Amino acid sequence: MTDSKFKKTVKMFQKLPGVGPRQAARFVLALLEKPESELQELGTSLYNLKEDIKLCPECFNLSDNGLCVVCSSHNRDKTKVLVIEKVTDLDSIEKTGLYKGLYHVLGGSINPLDGVLPEHLRIEELKQRAGKLANGLPAQAGSDLELILATNPNTAGETTALYLKDLFNGEKKIKLTRLGRGLASGSHLEYADEMTIRNALDSRK
Ligand SMILES: [Zn+2]
Repeated sequence: MTDSKFKKTVKMFQKLPGVGPRQAARFVLALLEKPESELQELGTSLYNLKEDIKLCPECFNLSDNGLCVVCSSHNRDKTKVLVIEKVTDLDSIEKTGLYKGLYHVLGGSINPLDGVLPEHLRIEELKQRAGKLANGLPAQAGSDLELILATNPNTAGETTALYLKDLFNGEKKIKLTRLGRGLASGSHLEYADEMTIRNALDSRK
């Protein structure tokens, strides 16, 4: 027996992160209550999603066109790169206005059990970019590029941080720090409040 059209639509929503069958059904029922015009607008946005929203070629933040707002700004500190898992982490930090450096979005964290290996993340891109940024800094001592590892304080995030520390070990002019202990183990940067982010940034080491 094939699924009803309702069930089929519910199953599509279930493919989104964190959405279970009941919540997916609620989404579909809520959409059924919407006027046709709103549904068409949503449909058009989805249809053109990949065409309309691109990733920044430098940091992999979302961008409507070319470099993202962070990379194209002249007011950012180009001696710091905050390395994060997802664009939503970047949003949480940007909202606080506490951080003035650059970002690098890895696209996830190393998790062999889920089949996520280093080559699936934008680690090679980070290596290339960090090398280029570090080379552009003045030659005198103390002007290193700081890579602030801000992957989540859970197993996959810690694995990723260790992998990166290893990868950049011994690189000249590149210094690695880890976001501080303000973040509780197992928590997510994405949901951290301003105070927590401030503490984590201040206590990086
Ligand atoms: Zn960017």
